[in-house]
Amino acid sequence: MPLTSSTMLLLGVAAGAALAVAVIAIISQARARREATRVEALLAVARRYVLGDLSRPAPHYGDDDLGRVARSLDQAVQELGRRIDSLARDRARMEAILASMIEGVLVVDEQGRLQLVNNAARRILKLEKGALDHSYVEAIRHPGIVEHLGRALAGGDPSVLELSVTRDTTRTLVAQIAPVVAAGRGAVLVMHDITDLRKADSIRRDFVANVSHELRTPLTAIKGYAEALLDDPDDREAHDRFLEIIHRQAERMERLVKDLLRLARLEAGQETVDRAPCDIAALLRSIVGDFETMSTAKRQTVAVTVAPEAAELNTDAAKLHDVVRNLVENAVNYTPDGGDISVTAAVVGGRFHLGVADTGHGIAPDDLGRVFERFYRVDKSRARPGGTGLGLSIVKHLVQVLDGEVVVENQATGGALFTVILPIEHDR
Ligand code: ADP
Repeated sequence: MPLTSSTMLLLGVAAGAALAVAVIAIISQARARREATRVEALLAVARRYVLGDLSRPAPHYGDDDLGRVARSLDQAVQELGRRIDSLARDRARMEAILASMIEGVLVVDEQGRLQLVNNAARRILKLEKGALDHSYVEAIRHPGIVEHLGRALAGGDPSVLELSVTRDTTRTLVAQIAPVVAAGRGAVLVMHDITDLRKADSIRRDFVANVSHELRTPLTAIKGYAEALLDDPDDREAHDRFLEIIHRQAERMERLVKDLLRLARLEAGQETVDRAPCDIAALLRSIVGDFETMSTAKRQTVAVTVAPEAAELNTDAAKLHDVVRNLVENAVNYTPDGGDISVTAAVVGGRFHLGVADTGHGIAPDDLGRVFERFYRVDKSRARPGGTGLGLSIVKHLVQVLDGEVVVENQATGGALFTVILPIEHDR
């Protein structure tokens, strides 16, 4: 049956419609695939973010709604990443500061768990490695600290506590404990080691006591003899004797004050060094000459030996003179009658060695390390009347100013040997 034109038209429309549906189906299928691919790409980026990789992704999000949403979410993540980086940097800086602090710092949270313990706190309180996040009551074995932390956690006022370190009673600490109210409740403990401060304080107190004692002895004598003179002004014989004693005691006080001032100047770094080539043999002989009357009276021999390579030294001659004078004076004083003293200069291992040796009693091993302390005297009964107990302390400081060191030992044959070691080259 021939097709009518209307049938033909109908068929054409139907075919067109079918084609259009097919084309639409193909197009929407392609779009769905594209969308699916984009969503997959976004999911991959999201997964990367979840795993902590916040590095900038490169997908092209597109300009439609999905693209805009993805782009703004990505910007938010990038911003978060920047903030996390900055927080991590701040934290690393804070940890570095805490780790290098000499003060111990410890923080506990509201539940009393250790949240932060720096190296110093760990060392001071002898905390175990895994103490973090554990209860401070179990971790810290110091009852005083535990009690004060408990009070701070309960909202108590900041408190200060003095304590000695666990298992080391020689050290003294000050602990400051305070409640924390910012960023959740908790408490913070800061510990300072004040052992050196206390030591310095006790040295200062001993020093004042020593000075007072050393000054009081001659002062009491001066006062007593002056009163005796006033009581009996007509006794001519006693008059001269008493005046002589007063004069001697006044000289002793003067020597003490002079030595104290010198020591104070040296300790304050107020003595400058004036270096020039120094004739060592001449210096040593002149010092020995100064004590000749004394040593001859004690029938002592004093020998000076200078090795050729030690004949000259670039140094502060006045300071070296005071050093050797003190050592020779001690040697003469502490060596019994008929003893031998030898003063030597040599170069040993590239350094200048100046030795003062005697044949006296030497120094007891326990005292060897202490004779350079101010006012330290090995044997009070044998201490020489004119001595101030400051001579060796001044020697030590003078030698330090000259960039050297002074050591003392007992010789195998008995008798003390003081050795002053100085650098040879000075380009300053
Ligand atoms: P002092 O004024 O008492 O001599 P020093 O500081 O010079 O003070 O010496 C400190 C102490 O060291 C002396 O009191 C003495 O006990 C001891 N001493 C110093 N030199 C010698 C030495 N050559 N032999 C033995 N003991 C010495």
